[in-house]
Amino acid sequence: MKIGFIGVGNMGAPMAVNLVAAGHDVTGHDIVTTMPEGVKTATSGVEAVQGAEVVITMLPAASDVEEVAAQVIPAMEKGALFFDGSTAGVACAHRVAEIAKAHGVRAIDAPVSGGIGGAQAATLTFMVGGTKADFDACQDLFSVMGQKAVYCGETGKGQAVKICNNMIAGVSMVVTCEAIALADKLGLDRQTVFDVVSTSTGKTWVMNDYCPMPGIGPKAPSDNDYKPGFTADLMIKDLRLSQDAAAEVDADSPMGARAAEVFAQYVEEEDGSGRDFSSMLLRFEKRGSG
Ligand code: NAD
Repeated sequence: MKIGFIGVGNMGAPMAVNLVAAGHDVTGHDIVTTMPEGVKTATSGVEAVQGAEVVITMLPAASDVEEVAAQVIPAMEKGALFFDGSTAGVACAHRVAEIAKAHGVRAIDAPVSGGIGGAQAATLTFMVGGTKADFDACQDLFSVMGQKAVYCGETGKGQAVKICNNMIAGVSMVVTCEAIALADKLGLDRQTVFDVVSTSTGKTWVMNDYCPMPGIGPKAPSDNDYKPGFTADLMIKDLRLSQDAAAEVDADSPMGARAAEVFAQYVEEEDGSGRDFSSMLLRFEKRGSG
């Protein structure tokens, strides 16, 4: 398949490499990075999409996705597919679908979970909004870049489930870290805390699989000096997207809102930027109740 790939960063580069390894003809464009081996270089987004049957975007934020969509969709073949794998929120998915419709292009929102490791190992999970027919048409691409794809419903539903999932992960990270810092102050041994919580009602993906305590639980970014992984900066973005969506549909989301504030304070006013989101523990370790 002839594929245009725009946004060849931490996630996009290994995904593009996996597509090339599966025999696809991939032309990439990025405003900063150079293309990995096997991916042809285009000097603009418009050049990358020439003659492509599918255009995949893996961009930082909704504003980037909308800007790129507005530039490249008019240059795409009629009937081709715009496949946005970025985490860009529900409203963005709708705006992109409108641009696509106006130009006779198909569109899906297909954000991923699994992180950079999942992108490299082709074990991502795709959560997909759009028509079922377009979801079915992408099965081969999903299986080359990931291990699971879930059809979530019409346009925006892939983004919707992604931000709900990450709201759970963000809130659980904050509360797990604050509980560990409390346990420290109560004089508990951290391994004891893990042994009990990971097998009790407090168990979560954060505690059991991505433990923020270095040297405890399975290997995680905490064991590598909190190198990401998934940055605290990306978590703020996702928590804000969930809050935007909550406001849009009048959903009460007090814990998501508070987690967004705590992550924003950690990244924007403290030293959290660029660190894995589990480094939130370092923040709580340093603080008192005041
Ligand atoms: P990244 O910043 O490493 O990569 C994004 C790339 O897009 C960069 O190389 C940047 O130069 C490029 N770019 C930005 N604007 C552009 C434009 N107008 N034209 C062409 N290229 C442009 O980010 P990432 O970690 O690869 O994340 C990409 C998306 O995947 C984000 O939406 C993120 O939320 C999502 N995501 C990331 C992870 C993760 O663990 N990193 C996990 C799940 C989902």
